[in-house]
Amino acid sequence: MKKILVTGGSGFIGSHLCERLLKEGNEVICLDNFFTGQKKNVVHLLSNPFFELVRHDVTQPYFVEVDQIYNLACPASPIHYQFNPIKTVKTSVMGAINMLGLAKRIKAPMLQASTSEVYGDPHVHPQVESYWGNVNPIGIRSCYDEGKRCAETLCMDYHRQNGVKVKIIRIFNTYGPRMFMHDGRVVSNFVVQALQNEDITIYGDGSQTRSFQYVDDLIDGMLKMMNTPDSFIGPVNLGNPCEFTIKQLAQTVIDMTGSRSKIVYKPLPADDPVQRKPDISLARKNLDWEPRIKLEDGLAKTIAYFENELRGLN
Ligand code: NAD
Ligand code: UDP
Repeated sequence: MKKILVTGGSGFIGSHLCERLLKEGNEVICLDNFFTGQKKNVVHLLSNPFFELVRHDVTQPYFVEVDQIYNLACPASPIHYQFNPIKTVKTSVMGAINMLGLAKRIKAPMLQASTSEVYGDPHVHPQVESYWGNVNPIGIRSCYDEGKRCAETLCMDYHRQNGVKVKIIRIFNTYGPRMFMHDGRVVSNFVVQALQNEDITIYGDGSQTRSFQYVDDLIDGMLKMMNTPDSFIGPVNLGNPCEFTIKQLAQTVIDMTGSRSKIVYKPLPADDPVQRKPDISLARKNLDWEPRIKLEDGLAKTIAYFENELRGLN
């Protein structure tokens, strides 16, 4: 049994991670300031004596003795990370410093949840880890993108300077149950709109692409990455290489829900990446991992979750 700290553990991905780590027989400390996370996401874990929920902000130091650290704390949807952009930068940068400082003191490995956003609006397609990216340093997405890039820098410098065992994963668009209904991300927006027969809001002309990964596939990859030899640091892409246009996603959601929703077009936000698709050769080789869940199968589970959410049943 390992003792494992998960920051951002009551968020969408964090709650699935906590659940899986407990299922595998570990003790989990879930740390969260509940900015975008909800207690509801982990309430079913509270009766487990090996689960502990702590209200804490990662911009402040935290002292604990654990065997592994997963650092996920950070708002991930544009409307939330742009709500208080200065706090978003602080969360990524000071959160990484605090967690890496902890990892250094207790000699525990730390896995950093980085993002495909470090590639910005990419000129290389599909994105390989060796690509340095095309990020606007002064735009409205920069607080998130540059915060995450700096967190990667900190991981590498704590590793080179202090020998901290670090693991960097670059997560591509992930969806599934427990996404926050009003999160603003495309899958939750479209599913919730379709289920209520409301207009489906496509930003721009819908020709931009994303590659959608179901959350269970990501969790498999995260555990595999944490358990690679110390010499494997990454960064490694974790995403589903099946690429769709946003228009295709809208149509798939309408078809699967049998919705009467109409598609409407809204302005494209600034710096919205045109294309995104991971090259996952590195993960295939080093983690023996690839996503297994097709978009339709993952969407079916997500739609079922939001149906219950709208009926107040979750
Ligand atoms: P989320 O918003 O559901 O979860 C983030 C969690 O971090 C929330 O529980 C929130 O309350 C918590 N948090 C935010 N600021 C904090 C702070 N200062 N101190 C403590 N806790 C704080 O988002 P998610 O989709 O679950 O994302 C989890 C991680 O994965 C994030 O680091 C995100 O950047 C990364 N990621 C997610 C995706 C995706 O598609 N979901 C893609 C790339 C990277
Ligand atoms: N998007 C959209 N309608 C929405 C929400 C998002 O068309 O209601 C678009 C958004 O402009 C982007 C894509 O869907 O091109 C993915 O957006 P999301 O915020 O989910 O993720 P990210 O842009 O961070 O990859």
